[in-house]
Amino acid sequence: MLINIENIYIHPVKSLSDTQVQTDILRLDLIHPVISGNKWFKLKYYLEEARREDAVCLASFGGAYSNHIVALACAAKEKGFNSIGFIRGDENTPLSATLQEAAAYGMQFIFVDREAYRNKEAITQQYHQPGWYWIPEGGYGALGAEGAADILKTTDTSTYTHILCATGTGTMMSGLVMAGQPHQKIIGISVLKNHLSLENEIKTLLPDTAHAFFECVHGYHFGGYAKHPENLLAYMRELWQCDALPTDIVYTAKLCYAVKDLIAKKQFPVNSKLLLIHSGGLQGNRSLPQGSLPY
Ligand SMILES: *Cc1c(COP(=O)(O)O)cnc(C)c1O
Repeated sequence: MLINIENIYIHPVKSLSDTQVQTDILRLDLIHPVISGNKWFKLKYYLEEARREDAVCLASFGGAYSNHIVALACAAKEKGFNSIGFIRGDENTPLSATLQEAAAYGMQFIFVDREAYRNKEAITQQYHQPGWYWIPEGGYGALGAEGAADILKTTDTSTYTHILCATGTGTMMSGLVMAGQPHQKIIGISVLKNHLSLENEIKTLLPDTAHAFFECVHGYHFGGYAKHPENLLAYMRELWQCDALPTDIVYTAKLCYAVKDLIAKKQFPVNSKLLLIHSGGLQGNRSLPQGSLPY
């Protein structure tokens, strides 16, 4: 199934709007059921470079629940590359749903323990083979940010005062900061606990000519990466009921919750126009017990 960029559209989010603040959402999740949202944008220039270098196999890194890994596996298959994932953890535990899906796209895995996983450079040197093209974990790098910058070019986003996204590695956010305009502020909701190096990791990817202001918000991780307490799930059901908006437990639900809370705390000036980035990731909800969500 091909990537459908033309499926992307913006719609209002009633439950996140009031008389003073208007909130819309950019639906990147609709481009593909697996390579959804920002993952496609972050990967696309790496894939082009791999093609130019006549690579036959794409190699990258991730955890057992990595959206990046499954998106890469799917994109590789679609574009005619082999793929190999260096996975943090133990191969003796049953494969997660994410890895099963990546395997179904033909990805091979090499499992590395936590200690070894920290040193990506050593893994690359140890395993590299001719014809392999390495993509950084989470797509974090200049090409990933450049691809993410194209997110704001899919449609006219110039009238928004604030653009808000969920951040993991910060790659997508770097792209938004690069593509944003001087009157816009880019706000990232970090889904990791105590990821205080995030600002610097974003700055590292920015050229000197980056345009928009940016800010990272650290108080909405709900206990840490992929943690999803019942109050988050309850909020996801509420969003579905009010706005027919599906969100995922790792990223977009935390983004929307944060926006709701920041609006309630009057953190946005009167007449602000917010654009949320729906960055995808819905397939991650499959790790929930059946029936946890109405979608
Ligand atoms: C990976 C991912 C993110 C985070 O992107 P970064 O560029 O790593 O910050 C946000 N939302 C979804 C749905 C994702 O899958």
